[in-house]
Amino acid sequence: LAKNILEAMKFIEANDVKFIRLQFCDLFGQNRNIAITAMQMERALASGIPFDASLVVGFPESRQTDLVLCPDISTIQLLPWRPQQGKVARILCDIRYPNGDVFEADSRYILKETIKQAEALGYQFNTSADCEFYLFKQDENGDPTTIPTDQAGYFDLAPYDRGENTRREICLTLEDMGFEIESSRHEAGRGQHEIDFKYDDALSSADKIMTFKTVVKTVAQRNGVHASFLPKPLMDEPGSGMHIHVSLSKDGHDIFKNNSGILGEDAKHFIAGVLSHVKGMTAITNPLVNSYKRLTGGKEAPRHIGWGFGNRTSLIRIPMESDEYYRFELRGPDPTCNPYLTFALILAAGLEGIAKKMVLVDELKLGEDEINKDPLVADTLQELPITLMEALTAMAADPLMRTVLGEDLAEKFIELKTAEWMDYIKTVHPWEIDRYLLTY
Ligand code: GLN
Ligand code: MG
Ligand code: MG
Repeated sequence: LAKNILEAMKFIEANDVKFIRLQFCDLFGQNRNIAITAMQMERALASGIPFDASLVVGFPESRQTDLVLCPDISTIQLLPWRPQQGKVARILCDIRYPNGDVFEADSRYILKETIKQAEALGYQFNTSADCEFYLFKQDENGDPTTIPTDQAGYFDLAPYDRGENTRREICLTLEDMGFEIESSRHEAGRGQHEIDFKYDDALSSADKIMTFKTVVKTVAQRNGVHASFLPKPLMDEPGSGMHIHVSLSKDGHDIFKNNSGILGEDAKHFIAGVLSHVKGMTAITNPLVNSYKRLTGGKEAPRHIGWGFGNRTSLIRIPMESDEYYRFELRGPDPTCNPYLTFALILAAGLEGIAKKMVLVDELKLGEDEINKDPLVADTLQELPITLMEALTAMAADPLMRTVLGEDLAEKFIELKTAEWMDYIKTVHPWEIDRYLLTY
C-alpha cells in the first residue's frame, strides 16, 4: 500500500472511525455523500467506490453513468458532531470514470485545471469568502419558517443578538476541523450572521466553503434553529452575499499590493478581465431565481458593474489595507454558488485580462444609493443581469464560460437552469394578485 494510504488507515484506526462519508460537490454546489464502513476504506483508497451518477444533478444521464469516487486523502476530517464512539469521518473525493480517466464535469477538477494553468504562468491564487446567512425559527414540526431568531442588527450584542451561542458552537466546530476563524458577528439583517475564516489556496478555500455550509446548517439544527444561505429570504432585510476575496502573487510578489491607492499593471488588467466577464459568470455566481432579488440595488449589495477603493457598494472593492492581505473583493456572488466553478471563472477571467492587457475603466466613486438617485449617472454604467434568465443568456454568449466549464457542462447548466426559470415564470405569484386583481 502507498504511504498515504497507510497513513489514512492509521488515522482511521487511531480515531476509532467506524464510518467514512465520501463526499463531493454537484453542479449546483450542493454537498453529496455516500457512507462506507471503515472496513471498505482500503478498497476505496486503492480503487475508488463506484456510484450511479445518473441521478446526480448535472451529471450525464445516459452516456456514461458509472462513475467512481476517489478519496482525496489530504481532506480527511472527523465530523465532531457525530458520536464520539464509533466516529464518523468525511473525505472529499475526486470523480473519475471506471477506467481511471478524470470526469471532466467534476467541479473540483475544473478548479484544479484552472489553477494548474495559472501556475504554469507563475501565478499563485488565494481566496477567502465572507459567507452570510440567516438563522430562522423552526415550527413545531421542526420545519423552517422565515421568522428571524432575533431583532438585532449589525454588530449587536446579546441579549438582542440571540445567535451568539449558535455562532460560538459553529466557530468551535470549525476550529476542530482545522479552520482558522477570523471573526464572527451579527450582520445587518434581523437574524443575519457572518463568520469569516482565513484565506487559503483556492482549492482548499473552496473545500472549506463546502464544509462551512454543512457545519453551519448542522450546528444550527442542533440548536433548534434553521440556518439559511438563501440570497434574499426577507424582502425588506439585506440579502446574504458571499463576497470573495482574491489575492494573486507572482514570484512572491503580491499583484494587488497597492501603494496608497495606486494599482500595478497586472492588478488593473486582472480586474478588467473579471469585469469584462462578470455578466457571463453571474449565472454561476448567483444561480437561483432568488439570487437576483438581492442584486436589485441597495442594502449593500452591488447592482452596477464597477470597481472602487473602499467603496462598500461597488461590485469590486479594493480594501485600503497594508498588511499581508493585499487583495480585491468581488461582492456579487452569493453563498448558493458552486465555489469551485466560481473561483475557476474568476481566475480564468482575470488571467485573460492580464494576457490581453485589458484596460481598466476609471474607479467608481459613487455608492449604489447615489447612482440610483441620478439617472444620468446610472445610464453611463453597465448593470449585472436583472434575472436568472438574463444571466443565462449572458453566460451562453460568453465563450470563456465554455472554455473553463467545458462545452457539456455549460450546456447542461444552461438547460437545467432555464427549466428552473420556466418553472418560476409560469407560477402566479401573490404579488400579481395583490397588484392586479382589483383593478383588472
Ligand atoms: N449583505 C450584504 C450583501 O448582500 C453585504 C453586507 C456587508 O457585509 N457589508 O452583499
Ligand atoms: Mg457582511
Ligand atoms: Mg465583505
